[in-house]
Amino acid sequence: MSFINENFLALQDSYLFSTIAKKVAKYTEENPDKKIIKLGIGDVTKPIVPACLEAMHKAVDEMGTEEGFKGYGPEQGYEFLRKAIVENDYKTRGVDIQEDEIFVSDGAKCDCGNIVDIFAPNNKVAITDPVYPVYLDTNIMSGRKVIYLPVTAENNFIPELPKEKVDMIYLCFPNNPTGTVLTKEDLKKWVEYAKENQSIILYDAAYEAFITEENIPHSIYEIEGAKEVAIEFKSYSKTAGFTGVRCAYVVIPRNLKGYTKEGKEVALNKLWNRRTCTKFNGVSYVVQRAAEATYSKEGKSQIKANIEAYLENAKIIKEGLEEARFMVYGGVNSPYVWLKVPEGMTSWEFFDKLLEEVNIVGTPGSGFGEHGEGYFRLTAFGTKENTIEAIERIKNWKW
Ligand SMILES: *Cc1c(COP(=O)(O)O)cnc(C)c1O
Repeated sequence: MSFINENFLALQDSYLFSTIAKKVAKYTEENPDKKIIKLGIGDVTKPIVPACLEAMHKAVDEMGTEEGFKGYGPEQGYEFLRKAIVENDYKTRGVDIQEDEIFVSDGAKCDCGNIVDIFAPNNKVAITDPVYPVYLDTNIMSGRKVIYLPVTAENNFIPELPKEKVDMIYLCFPNNPTGTVLTKEDLKKWVEYAKENQSIILYDAAYEAFITEENIPHSIYEIEGAKEVAIEFKSYSKTAGFTGVRCAYVVIPRNLKGYTKEGKEVALNKLWNRRTCTKFNGVSYVVQRAAEATYSKEGKSQIKANIEAYLENAKIIKEGLEEARFMVYGGVNSPYVWLKVPEGMTSWEFFDKLLEEVNIVGTPGSGFGEHGEGYFRLTAFGTKENTIEAIERIKNWKW
């Protein structure tokens, strides 16, 4: 008999996006003449920039020649990309990361989920609430105990240090879904906590490219001592519109240690390298050349223009909602705007009202966790025209 991993039975079914789709479909069917504007999109919409396209075309052509053909590449990623990452994402910020501390992958979602392989199932895990569901569900799948750290307007969306000792901590800043950030001082407290408790911080910096303000860390390694306590996840998905191309990387510093039951130190980089070589065969050459091109002069400026356009939409949403007297968070260093729904209403009630009265679709905060109840997410990934129109509708709306 083949027995199943019963931890899967402890997962909560996720109906968030399917419920949204059903409600929108029903409304559209009943009101075919209405123009619905979707500001719930959690995916980039701008096409891949020319610099990356050119690099991909060139790499494809190379693959068709005797000299240029590539078979299996290094599981950890090609040296040209790891070098570009070291130079551009770390050295420029005064952070010393070496090539062998970087593992290129096909996505930060997989990395955030797969990393749990190298940790014991009895580790206690702290996760913010509301949250990107991947951290939570992958830890439930492997049977870990989860402690929730509420992030709400009451604590200014800065998670408080856990009262009980935890072994693993997931932090994501700029945050999805709240769009809020931590300053260097805020993050320093977490690095200190992790040092004191010999815990590991799993730092998801997928939205790093959207940071506009000073004193907001782009990498956790900008905090002194973080290399001894943190793993960092980065992705080209939101930075360069690679959600369909697929490329990301994880950083595991050489001196980062985990412990055996007997208290013996073990290098996590070594464990992850072993796991990667066993279970993964690397990201395609063509895709890694595209990722490399994000660091070229043209690539950088083309990507910057796209991000600025998204940030402009975020600003339109944030300022428009403020004018309409909503309490609004995020949207400055992030494509996400998080708003407080009117007093006495649930996130889903607000969803229905927004859809029916002004024909705008967003995402109910309660779909991201218990403490997301009473909040609502709008995203900057729509077109500028639609964003402006949506906000005009909200400003003229008597909610
Ligand atoms: C989009 C996103 C990612 C990136 O995932 P990929 O698998 O690299 O596309 C990672 N973390 C968060 C919080 C995200 O929203």
